[in-house]
Amino acid sequence: MVYKGKVKTNKRRRVCRFSGCGHILSIYNPETYCHVHQHFTTMQLSSAPLIRR
Ligand SMILES: [Zn+2]
Repeated sequence: MVYKGKVKTNKRRRVCRFSGCGHILSIYNPETYCHVHQHFTTMQLSSAPLIRR
């Protein structure tokens, strides 16, 4: 049994939720944001300075 061209994963393609980004995420990417804004939101959420220079 072969499905024509379509892989059964996520039906709809997901886009980075960052406003104005529009970066299409990979269907295998569980994140909501692209790699750029993923880091950005992580920094926003954790306001605690984890990394000190
Ligand atoms: Zn983005």
